[in-house]
Amino acid sequence: MPETNQKDFTIAIVGGGMCGLACAIGLARAGIKVKVFEAAAKFDEIGAGVGLGPNAVRALKGLGILEHVLKAINIKDSVAQANFRFVQGSGNHEILFEIPDVESEGGTDVDNKGLAIYRPTFLAAIVPLIDPDTVSFSKHLTSITQLESGQYCLAFADGTTHNADLVIGADGIRSIVRDAVVDVADPNKDRLVFANRYIYRGMISVEALKAVGVTQDISSQPLAWLGFGKMMVTYPIKDQTMLNVAATLNTHEFGAPLSPAKPRPWVEDVNQKEMLDAYQDSWGSTATAILRQMTQPSRWTLHTVYPPLDAFVKDRIVLIGDAAHAMVPYLGAGVGQGFEDTYALCRILAHDKVTKDSLNAALALYDSLRRPRANMVLEQSLNAADVMQSLGPGGHDVEECRRRLKEVYGSDWHHDLWHYDLESAVSSALETF
Ligand SMILES: Cc1cc2nc3c(=O)[nH]c(=O)nc-3n(C[C@H](O)[C@H](O)[C@H](O)COP(=O)(O)OP(=O)(O)OC[C@H]3O[C@@H](n4cnc5c(N)ncnc54)[C@H](O)[C@@H]3O)c2cc1C
Repeated sequence: MPETNQKDFTIAIVGGGMCGLACAIGLARAGIKVKVFEAAAKFDEIGAGVGLGPNAVRALKGLGILEHVLKAINIKDSVAQANFRFVQGSGNHEILFEIPDVESEGGTDVDNKGLAIYRPTFLAAIVPLIDPDTVSFSKHLTSITQLESGQYCLAFADGTTHNADLVIGADGIRSIVRDAVVDVADPNKDRLVFANRYIYRGMISVEALKAVGVTQDISSQPLAWLGFGKMMVTYPIKDQTMLNVAATLNTHEFGAPLSPAKPRPWVEDVNQKEMLDAYQDSWGSTATAILRQMTQPSRWTLHTVYPPLDAFVKDRIVLIGDAAHAMVPYLGAGVGQGFEDTYALCRILAHDKVTKDSLNAALALYDSLRRPRANMVLEQSLNAADVMQSLGPGGHDVEECRRRLKEVYGSDWHHDLWHYDLESAVSSALETF
């Protein structure tokens, strides 16, 4: 990203999650000062893994972050995220489909296949890149109002305020900034809906699994264990010593509309028995052994933004990450789309023609570049959920599963999801600016 001089406008980022932090780093690297306002008392990430596809890796590289992340992990032991194997959750876990290996397209293995990382490790790698003076903690945004000067006044729950020319909403799935972007007259203003699914999450020791007699190779590649109305994703992290597990239960018939948002909390520690009971009739021995090792699962009530937003930008308020397009995790692509947003926004704002006067046009460029792609991935993630949970007229027929998996994971759009040339797309868009 080209270095640039300080701008004639001020920027406030709301939210210091993976995307807000990446954005603060990317802008600072381009010489642009920002202020970050985070609701929590410190930066924090849940103790789980996250898969970063090749597109996410390239966006992080463009932001100058990747090298710091790679230093924090043993890359030889990090497992490619683009190479999922789909197996039956039941019986002997017969292989249903494997995502074809990607021909090397130049670049390194990580560039082509992505990686998996423990979220706190990612955070620990990037936090030192942020100037602590630019961050304010315990700042829970409650509202945004536009002042006569054109600036925005951010009001926080502690009674303080902050004014800025540009607001970047990186405040996640329950974004307050999103309320300022979605048209108040829009009948679907309340975009958050329950995605008709729960996910049990946990991390277990690979050694412990071997100790209880699991001989199947569960740690050399990501696996998706499929069943009717249920599925499980496992992939190794922490130098292949731990297995990240996310087991889904669908709650509705195929084709049922997504439901109104559920009351919070959306994440709860639950009794292991609840989870084991849900899978006992349909899971084979290795899949069951994995669940038995999850002695303290947490249950996530899955929500998504739906229908997708008609705009990621309103005047000089712009959304990135889950604030713009919180999606179900069945393509493992949510934060990758957020990093793409971040890379595109940082490059656009760093462009030397972007000043206070041209900011609206610059943000319109961001919206036209990012919204169609991120919304496409959001829609496809819901479709992937149905395919992986065998929801459809064919049910959990093996040949039907194979056909549908190939339709999704062998498609051009799926290849493009991971191997899209964002850098060129941003460069071409900027030429028109
Ligand atoms: C079960 C599950 C598995 C997933 N697996 C993957 C995966 O493998 N790969 C992938 O790419 N994605 C995955 N995702 C999606 C991914 O976790 C999200 O896309 C990503 O964390 C979003 O990052 P973010 O920075 O936009 O939001 P967040 O991480 O939610 O950060 C938002 C930040 O804003 C702060 N905040 C919130 N409200 C306010 C406020 N009012 N004022 C100030 N600050 C505020 C929060 O405290 C938080 O720090 C998964 C999601 C789930 C649920």
